[in-house]
Amino acid sequence: MRVPHGIDSKAFSAAVRELEGIVGQQWVFTSEEDLYLYRDAYSPFWGEPEERLASAAVSPESVEQVQAILRIANAHKIPIYPISTGRNLGYGGAAPVYSGSVVLDLKRMNRILEIDEQAASCLVEPGVSYFDLYRHIRANKLKLWIDCPDPGWGSLVGNALDHGNGYTMNPFRDHFGAHCGMEVVLANGDLVRTGMGALPGAKTWQQSRYGFGPDVDGIFSQGNSGVVTKMGFWLMAEPEAYLAGTVMVSRHADLVPLMKAFSVLNNTNAMMATTRIGSPLQLGRVFGVPPEPEHAALLDKPGVTPDELEAYGRKNDLPYWTIDLKFYGGTEVVEAQWTYAMRVFKSAIPDVQFTKGDRLTFPLTDAQAEAVQDKASLGIPSLGAFFVGARSPNKPVGSHGHFWLSPILPLSAEAVLEAQKVFAGAFREWGVAPLYRALPQLYSPRAFYLLFGFEVSEDPAVNHKTRETVRRMIKLAAEHGWGEYRTAPAFMDDVMNVYSYNNHALRGLHERIKDALDPNGILAAGRCGIWPKHLRNGRS
Ligand SMILES: Cc1cc2nc3c(=O)[nH]c(=O)nc-3n(C[C@H](O)[C@H](O)[C@H](O)COP(=O)(O)OP(=O)(O)OC[C@H]3O[C@@H](n4cnc5c(N)ncnc54)[C@H](O)[C@@H]3O)c2cc1C
Repeated sequence: MRVPHGIDSKAFSAAVRELEGIVGQQWVFTSEEDLYLYRDAYSPFWGEPEERLASAAVSPESVEQVQAILRIANAHKIPIYPISTGRNLGYGGAAPVYSGSVVLDLKRMNRILEIDEQAASCLVEPGVSYFDLYRHIRANKLKLWIDCPDPGWGSLVGNALDHGNGYTMNPFRDHFGAHCGMEVVLANGDLVRTGMGALPGAKTWQQSRYGFGPDVDGIFSQGNSGVVTKMGFWLMAEPEAYLAGTVMVSRHADLVPLMKAFSVLNNTNAMMATTRIGSPLQLGRVFGVPPEPEHAALLDKPGVTPDELEAYGRKNDLPYWTIDLKFYGGTEVVEAQWTYAMRVFKSAIPDVQFTKGDRLTFPLTDAQAEAVQDKASLGIPSLGAFFVGARSPNKPVGSHGHFWLSPILPLSAEAVLEAQKVFAGAFREWGVAPLYRALPQLYSPRAFYLLFGFEVSEDPAVNHKTRETVRRMIKLAAEHGWGEYRTAPAFMDDVMNVYSYNNHALRGLHERIKDALDPNGILAAGRCGIWPKHLRNGRS
């Protein structure tokens, strides 16, 4: 049996028996075979000594069992790592940040506790997946939509607690931002409800966010002071119609007026959906269909200029930049929004072009929902995103997984162009493959996430080089004022280290909260670079 670092194997066996007494023997996992499921299949340390591994896993079915488990963990000083559905691929999977922790797997707590159609809200347990909630809504013909990330098998709670994002409109697409009220078991086993939930018999726990007093919910997101056992969310009322369209411009310099016009639409909430800046001319081989040979040769040419790409674009009818727009609402309203958007772009760039995409009315039949290409934009969960890195005619050898790095940039053309230049220069200098064609994604309503994807290899030497590149990128981004929003456990300390204003005052605050709420340091040690006292490597 694996044993957590610093724990005597007899003491650990005794703790395991106590855990079995709480949840039943069949819900405590210690065999290599069972624990394989708690490895991070996308770990950038795959098969290396630094890979983060669980010593055991325990799966409760009630809040009382969670409380009892944490009390046992405190008594024996056993490190615990909570997961909801543990599908956090790309950001750590189901594996703990601190190797040797016992994974607290909350998948069995999977009840949809409340769903209010008129208020468009719900209360769920951690094991409720996007598929579960979607199927429940459809089975009961409720006029509600969920907002899901690309893979629909994850949980509302786990995704929101890691600041995950989806693809419908504000405020639903920021999953933590769309939550309303929590129930949390603190590290010592105490039970707390936040917001209106602190009022016994509250009638608006899932509708009114703040309750009374300081808003503490944030410390449990990307934090490690509590286990969230219930969480409320706002859902989107099913709109009458949906209209999608694409804006296309042909010149490199068009990005400046394009972004200015887009900002007007975005900042007046005339366009509230997630979107991305695309560049059919610049897109290389990151995760898509490879360009045709002449285009590929141009992209591979060192120092290729925007003029050369523009000339290729003119010849082949390829736009330099694109932005997808999506509108949700009344049938006349989405048409009017599209007309208005076209006017705003035309006044900024007279030769701008548009294509109109999907135009749908709701509800969709099952067959129509199945046929939708861009499912996530309509809150339809799927696993289609796993095409990323998969084996295909263009990619005879599939990748061993991937992870992301997303420096966050201001919402402006100048910022995008500067970031492309900075990273392109760095990749040349470091001698690594040019990832600089990464393009910005609008998840936050006011900032771009510049999403870089890295493939995980079965070859430790390749992974070593990738990790070094990522670490350099984190520092380089920080030097330019661009921070990450989320990262894999391998890089959590690196990211927290660059949030260093006033001698790491924010990390100091997190550590004080950690010490107060989790004096034995048992819960999710190291999550987001927040370590308990005994693991701070000499820092007090
Ligand atoms: C191809 C691909 C595409 C992806 N696209 C997206 C995307 O569009 N958007 C997106 O957001 N993500 C995306 N991801 C990342 C990831 O798959 C999802 O975010 C997924 O929903 C996270 O898994 P989960 O919901 O099971 O969370 P979990 O793994 O359960 O939780 C994530 C972390 O939150 C903490 N946590 C979880 N539950 C609790 C709890 N109850 N109490 C305290 N702490 C807790 C833990 O530290 C845990 O490690 C993608 C991944 C892949 C592979």
